[in-house]
Amino acid sequence: PNNPPPVSSDPTLVPDFAPAWTVAWEKAKAKIAGFTLEEKVNVTTGVGWMNGRCVGNIPPVYPIDGRGWPGLCLEDSPLGVRYTNFVTAFPAGINTAATWNRALIRLRGIYMGQEFVGKGVHVQLGPMMNLGKNAQGGRNWEGFGAEPFLAGEAAYETILGMQQSGVQACAKHYINNEQEFDRTQESSNVDDRTEHEIYGHPFMRSVMAGVASVMCSYNLINDTYACENDRTLNQILKYEYGFQGYIQSDWSATHSTMGATAGLDMTMPGDIAFGSNTSYFGYNLTQFVLNGTIQESRLDDMATRIVAAWYLLGQDAPTFPNVSFNAFYPLDPTQNENIDVMADHYTVVHDIGAASTILLKNVNNTLPLKGVRSIAMIGSDAGPDLRGPNGYTDRGGDDGVLAMGWGSGTDNFPWLISPLEAIQARARQDHTLVSWFLDDFDYAGVATAVQGQEMAIVFVNSDSGEGYITVDGNEGDRKNLTAWHGGDELILTVAANNNNTVVVVHSVGPLIIEPWVDHPNITAILWAGVPGQEVGNSLVSILYGVWNPTGRLPYTIAKNASDYPSQLILGGTPQDILSINYTQGLFIDYRWFDAQNITPRYEFGYGLSYSTFKYSNVEVTKVYNADDAYDAELIANWEAGKPNPLTVGSTTALWLHTPAYQVSFDVTNTGDYYGGEIPQLYVHFPPESGEPPQVLKGFTNMNLVPGETQRGTITLSRYSLSIWDIASQGWLKPSGTITFTVGASSRDPRLHGTFPL
Ligand code: BGC
Ligand code: BGC
Repeated sequence: PNNPPPVSSDPTLVPDFAPAWTVAWEKAKAKIAGFTLEEKVNVTTGVGWMNGRCVGNIPPVYPIDGRGWPGLCLEDSPLGVRYTNFVTAFPAGINTAATWNRALIRLRGIYMGQEFVGKGVHVQLGPMMNLGKNAQGGRNWEGFGAEPFLAGEAAYETILGMQQSGVQACAKHYINNEQEFDRTQESSNVDDRTEHEIYGHPFMRSVMAGVASVMCSYNLINDTYACENDRTLNQILKYEYGFQGYIQSDWSATHSTMGATAGLDMTMPGDIAFGSNTSYFGYNLTQFVLNGTIQESRLDDMATRIVAAWYLLGQDAPTFPNVSFNAFYPLDPTQNENIDVMADHYTVVHDIGAASTILLKNVNNTLPLKGVRSIAMIGSDAGPDLRGPNGYTDRGGDDGVLAMGWGSGTDNFPWLISPLEAIQARARQDHTLVSWFLDDFDYAGVATAVQGQEMAIVFVNSDSGEGYITVDGNEGDRKNLTAWHGGDELILTVAANNNNTVVVVHSVGPLIIEPWVDHPNITAILWAGVPGQEVGNSLVSILYGVWNPTGRLPYTIAKNASDYPSQLILGGTPQDILSINYTQGLFIDYRWFDAQNITPRYEFGYGLSYSTFKYSNVEVTKVYNADDAYDAELIANWEAGKPNPLTVGSTTALWLHTPAYQVSFDVTNTGDYYGGEIPQLYVHFPPESGEPPQVLKGFTNMNLVPGETQRGTITLSRYSLSIWDIASQGWLKPSGTITFTVGASSRDPRLHGTFPL
């Protein structure tokens, strides 16, 4: 591909995709110049649901050689190629974020991109970056957690990786698509500052990563549908962020032909309703252009953006696989869907699964395991699903180990290594006796099974997904934050009968764990998320200390569900648009707990290691870049706390995002194990700024042998120290002293400092 060169995981290197877009636009304009009006319209209009080989298809312009263009195949999902075989089932987005490890996030993106390209897919419909505003939100697990900065870093690295492999990424769902209930019929009412600082941030980072496309969501924003919302599409995404790719609708989220004038470039899957044979684009768009309602220059811009993205990713290269992957007729022998694109990607699935497992509790160094004589594995989540790994359509069922949520954000497991299988394979080495009891509700049987065993490992889970499937009364969103299959009772039964009980949780998001968390017989808790096809192997790596835990919570685990600042909004009537007012503003997740002095059970950013780490010698310096002279006036304004004019691309401009401050510090491994620590930097703005008490603005990974000290560095930009100013519509440094803490979680600050502003 001729997209910009791979960038290292050094967050201080800010790639500039502008030159690559310029070249791609020139080629696209030349190509479009040879298209008729109808052909240009076809470039913007999907062929209709199930009328092509992928979940979304843009038809070719014939003849393909020379003048024409081969069209596009757009396919789910954010964690692997959907509706096909011989593909990898990667860890979900939420696990990706829980690693806090840019290199692993990038690698996952690279490998996913290779698999999509290998199947002949042009556009991967991911990553998903809605924030976990509501702990019960059904699709939270597809995304990167409840923190905009962390989600932004994960989106950025994922997209750089995917596009490095030559597949177009699609940042979704833009924007404020935070619950499944009434998702096509709710208006998310959000103030401008919250939109910019919280929900918009991961999309802004996506644009900075050169993202090819963005998917507008089903919901309305401030009473206007997301796919015809001039404010969010034209003004914020295309003007402020300077997005040069194309905006595609979510599936049937287009509500009018005039959406085109609000910034929509492509309608998906093309028909107004699935199978309706009508479209808001297609014939209608042609008529609107012919009768002058929509200018042809807008249509040209739409088609150019789409074709430019194709050039940006080098998909014009003759080497781009010309395979006829077919999502809907996979058994047709003339289709080569059986191409094996898995390579050895399972190794990174295994690693990310381990790196995303969060050690919440570890009394008396119960873990890692050291020559344990006998282990009882308890609960259905320890073993395989009775119906096989893909026994439920779009994974819409919860039986056996949970390694993925349900809905369009899934793919087929090639295999699924359960904890029970993995632990038995490992047990041979130490001659550990392994027994199990997988019935979640036979408490007498569970009690007998764990009595007299040196250790009991009890497994529980909690599932959710996309609203078109209901599982056990959960209509996409979770009904509650309680473990499924009577998990609390199961854990309490085990703990009552075995004084060395380890709890393993496979969950799409937070749970309320108060019924058992402090039980004296529960010696360790592992929070493993939904880690993909190697779930059992990843767990074994953690249990035996092959991977010393480095996972950190990408959301807060509260003591009570009502402690969270936002809840699902239910009710309403089928005719009405449901109003969801984002009253908590900037105060989502830990920002609310901090501001309201609510003690969480486990705070955002928390996670233990088998080792311990000491922080010391913090220093903060101002950084000068060669380019600063060029942007001297903008920088001087910013430093004086004055706004700069809003121009196209000004909020992703390099002067705002290149390194400006460097915080460095020493970290020493004071424990007995080699391992990783993830120092987190929180900025504390002055109270008059209206900001929450602290906001995450940086993190890094350090790996240290026992006794070793290394110097860590976290780089911040001017943007890191800015707030969105509604009056001037720009990023502004608030007046007053800005301080920071560096520490091991949002509630474990170890070092303090003040920025030299
Ligand atoms: C989902 C998208 C998905 C699309 C295609 C929609 O219902 O919201 O995330 O990419 O369907 O399957
Ligand atoms: C499809 C999904 C799509 C959903 C939209 C389902 O039937 O499988 O791809 O996201 O419909 O509601």
